Amino acid sequence: MKINTPTMENRMIIPMPPEAEGKMLLHSCCAPCSGEVIEAMAKCGLDITIYFYNPNIHPREEYDLRKEENIRFAEKLDIPFIDADYDTTNWFSRVKGMEFEPERGKRCTECFDMRFERTALYAHENGFPMFTSCLAISRWKDANQINGCGQRAAARYEGLSYWDYNWRKSGGSSRMLEISKRENFYQQEYCGCVYSLRDTNQWRVSNGRDKIELGIHYYGTDTESHG
Ligand code: SF4
Repeated sequence: MKINTPTMENRMIIPMPPEAEGKMLLHSCCAPCSGEVIEAMAKCGLDITIYFYNPNIHPREEYDLRKEENIRFAEKLDIPFIDADYDTTNWFSRVKGMEFEPERGKRCTECFDMRFERTALYAHENGFPMFTSCLAISRWKDANQINGCGQRAAARYEGLSYWDYNWRKSGGSSRMLEISKRENFYQQEYCGCVYSLRDTNQWRVSNGRDKIELGIHYYGTDTESHG
């Protein structure tokens, strides 16, 4: 893996977790959230593999867009990319009864648990002593909620741990935006599931705005997003 970008040169080196033994499985939800995390981890010398497991994303058109953007960035940086299942049936059965939970509520805990449990299983089966996620870099997310889910998933396997590094600090949030613009990443406008699409559209309509149109906004040309 060879990464050399303008933002990398001035980046602070973050402390590398010794438990990782030099390599890390990164659960990624999309290119914008993972860009800064990938570049920060590469700078500290970690050997990264991206694990894309997000059966929450709806509809399929949006799922494919987010995944393809993540693959485009991974290929550019020569980082292995694991394309896991799109098992939406399991996701819908897991969040059944939570359709009207607000964002950052119980449905989201279940959603993170499901995605991290699969990530932890892959880490366990493929010799990764540690995994992490870029989900908590988003300002829309509750980092404590995400870290709790990550730690719970890691605890299922002896010798596996979850890295709860705060990716927003030391300029991480602004570099996330900078990298997204530099790479012209696809710019999602809702968290991902059909319920977040419904609720975001309801909010937009009640505030006199048009509903979300999928696949039209890219960083560098617009400013609004929801990762
Ligand atoms: S709002 Fe986001 S985190 Fe919560 S259930 Fe939907 S996709 Fe998952």
